[in-house]
Amino acid sequence: MTGQQCPFCDIASGAERDQVVHADSSVVAFMDLYPATDGHLLVAPVHHRAGLGDLDEETGTAMWRAGHRAAAALRRSGLRCEGINLLLCDGAAAGQSVFHVHLHVIPRYRGDGIVLRAGHGRASPAESELRERAGAIRACLARTAGPEPDRTA
Ligand SMILES: [Zn+2]
Repeated sequence: MTGQQCPFCDIASGAERDQVVHADSSVVAFMDLYPATDGHLLVAPVHHRAGLGDLDEETGTAMWRAGHRAAAALRRSGLRCEGINLLLCDGAAAGQSVFHVHLHVIPRYRGDGIVLRAGHGRASPAESELRERAGAIRACLARTAGPEPDRTA
């Protein structure tokens, strides 16, 4: 996909400089044009990647680092910010609407009207079901995991 077709590629290429709050060689952070609250930011890779499945772990780490730093900046910015949501919607079923992967950094405050529902109203599954699901995920993680960072250094 080219920049002409993707609004986030346009931003990453520097076309919308006034919206950008941070840019480096791998990620760009910029104002959401349809903010949930004032100061709502998006962090996206510089190079077009549709979703998590297309994203290398290094760039994903850079996205999280930029989001973490943006959250700290929002807390000090003077904008109303009593809390932060970091939210990544991967796939249409998860609410992704622009298919250039992005991490939302959303300032929150009491009474902001935002409702996030994560399905915690569901009944807790039987222990055997939890064990079975954990086993299926564990097996896939073992096949997809990259090298573990060296924690002895
Ligand atoms: Zn793009």
